[in-house]
Amino acid sequence: MADRYAVFGNPVGHSQSPRIHALFAQQTSQNLSYEALLAPLDGFADHVRTFIARGGCGANVTVPFKEEAFRLATQLTPRAQAAGAVNTLSFTEGQILGDNTDGAGLVRDIRINLCVAVQGARVLLLGAGGAARGTMLPLLGERPAQLTIANRTRAKAETLCSQVGAGNTAICDFTELRAQPAFDVVINATSAGLSDAALPIPDSVFASHTLAYDMLYGRETPFMAQAQRNGARVADGLGMLVEQAAEAFFGWRGVRPDTAPVLAALRAASR
Ligand code: NDP
Repeated sequence: MADRYAVFGNPVGHSQSPRIHALFAQQTSQNLSYEALLAPLDGFADHVRTFIARGGCGANVTVPFKEEAFRLATQLTPRAQAAGAVNTLSFTEGQILGDNTDGAGLVRDIRINLCVAVQGARVLLLGAGGAARGTMLPLLGERPAQLTIANRTRAKAETLCSQVGAGNTAICDFTELRAQPAFDVVINATSAGLSDAALPIPDSVFASHTLAYDMLYGRETPFMAQAQRNGARVADGLGMLVEQAAEAFFGWRGVRPDTAPVLAALRAASR
């Protein structure tokens, strides 16, 4: 019998996770199944418990259940604790272990796939929602020279900074960014691109040495277009998606898949 895994979300039909994990399983000869399961907005915990009762070994969690998964977990990894959200659950010996692999996925994509060092870099993180929160600790673990957080609602950036930040973390309003020199890495962790909204950030945050990274994937966002106009190198979040999945797969199976062919297959399919 194959070990059962799933991704829970609402909606979940668009999820690429079943495809990614099927490719990982094939590549590493792991006997597992992975399906997308739609949970009702008021029934996430019950659906997960039913899945466990039917032999589920682990699950990914996507919008809008990451905070609920955090509360459901009986044990948390330090990075899930810092994120306040869980995207990966493991079910063993009556326990529900909650992890957050989003930040590690982002860092691996930047460092390994895009060959850009965060260590010693000046990094600008745009946004202070769940994705930004999940990213902070792994980013700080790379020891950037400075991590600046800018968010539309300043109070949320302040809360995030006080809870997860370190000595080299600063907060800035979008308008105050005008006084800053160009950054080495600019990460868009806002959801503005989902509605094709431009961010009120100055062109001067970008230079030819800048990596402009949008966590969104599957579309060119106004953020990406602005970065491109200003000579920056641009990346979308598809690599992060594949790398966070690989990190979850490693946690469940103890085997790290080779992400390069999987990312290439997804890119080819999206063309
Ligand atoms: P949240 O809803 O938790 O946070 C949204 C953030 O975007 C907030 O900081 C919000 O600011 C800001 N924002 C939204 N609209 C605008 C706007 N028009 N102008 C300026 N700021 C805006 O979302 P998440 O953190 O969960 O997700 C953020 C993005 O990251 C999404 O696009 C998501 O698809 C992507 N993502 C990608 C992953 C991947 O694997 N590639 C994994 C996880 C997320 P405010 O606080 O002022 O409301």
